[in-house]
Amino acid sequence: MSASIPRPFDPAAMRPDTLLVHGGGLRSPFGETSEAVFLTQGFVYDTMEAAEARFSGADPGFIYSRFSNPTVAMFEQRMALLEGAEAARATASGMAAVTAAMLGQVKAGDHVVAAKALFGSCRYIVEDLLPRFGVASTLIDGCDLDQWRAAMRPNTKACFLESPTNPTLDIIDIAAVAEIAHAGGARLVVDNVLATPMLQSPLKLGADCVVYSATKHIDGQGRCLGGVILASEQFIADHVHNLLRQTGPSISPFNAWVLLKGLETLPLRVERQARTAAALADVVAGLPGVAKVLYPGRADHPQAELARRQMKGGGTMLAFEIEGGKAGAFHFANRLRLIRISNNLGDAKSLITHPATTTHQRLTPEARAELGISEGLLRLSVGLEHLDDLAADLAGAAGL
Ligand SMILES: *Cc1c(COP(=O)(O)O)cnc(C)c1O
Repeated sequence: MSASIPRPFDPAAMRPDTLLVHGGGLRSPFGETSEAVFLTQGFVYDTMEAAEARFSGADPGFIYSRFSNPTVAMFEQRMALLEGAEAARATASGMAAVTAAMLGQVKAGDHVVAAKALFGSCRYIVEDLLPRFGVASTLIDGCDLDQWRAAMRPNTKACFLESPTNPTLDIIDIAAVAEIAHAGGARLVVDNVLATPMLQSPLKLGADCVVYSATKHIDGQGRCLGGVILASEQFIADHVHNLLRQTGPSISPFNAWVLLKGLETLPLRVERQARTAAALADVVAGLPGVAKVLYPGRADHPQAELARRQMKGGGTMLAFEIEGGKAGAFHFANRLRLIRISNNLGDAKSLITHPATTTHQRLTPEARAELGISEGLLRLSVGLEHLDDLAADLAGAAGL
């Protein structure tokens, strides 16, 4: 390898904030302070013998950026240190990560169980895509552990969930589902996007694989797409490495660099956004015309106790129901001046969306009702603006 780590520090002795600034650094011979962007497709070898050694694996250097690149490797290593995972693979988007993590584990004749409250495209993978290739899937209410138990079959290879769920912010008991999956000989994949790696560690709760859309909090400033899969060396080798290498949903080194730099400020941003979200949940609960507030950090959340047990905070998202259904929700959101209407989340800018007509429009009204996505429900991703300005914006939209 042309890049090296001079005077390496012991990552095991460092706290997450430190690892997110220094972890996984591969400094080139130029000694740059900031991590370099290696915008290169390939790599050159001094001799044919060197090329042979690279290809045989005797020399572990880089070969081709579809599956190995120094900037991407820095992002992967930093993520692995943060998550406490043995291995990580970055992908072009969160959906590329979810697709590879699920497809890599199954073949025709296998079965998958998933909580039905999933990000829309994740639900498509489980409900529509896998069955086209002979992989049966069962969607259940993820909060009901009996439904997980009942859905398991002898050929169940993977279970899949996200918690908190999007957009109703239900909490699923990750440790309990991991136990059920393992008892049935299956592996558990957790989409940890809404919780963020700062507030929830699914691998420590027993999950076998964690996936992120790095597009969200890890970038955190709305710039680029990215994804990452984290698991044991064995899991990556058995299910992920070759699929990614041969099919090529690769992340651009430039995007990996943006995300790598995003990790440096992730703890600061998530802490502030979660603190503001907790305060705003209480503000919104007191506004006229608000029927219900959903925030995992509030005492009135249906799974408040579980949220406290498995998360280090209530998260950066809240949802609330406006009286008057769709018309009421539209009227409220259209009156906001600071908070922008957008389906994205985890951004420095606070963003609001009406799930029934945007992110979850594809579902039938019955499927939406089953998930608790009412016509009056709004989902708010809390950004880095000052709490008082956000509170004033929400009060203004409520007509105060
Ligand atoms: C955004 C998101 C994804 C998909 O990520 P992309 O980067 O948009 O492909 C998957 N799961 C959850 C929970 C998300 O919020």
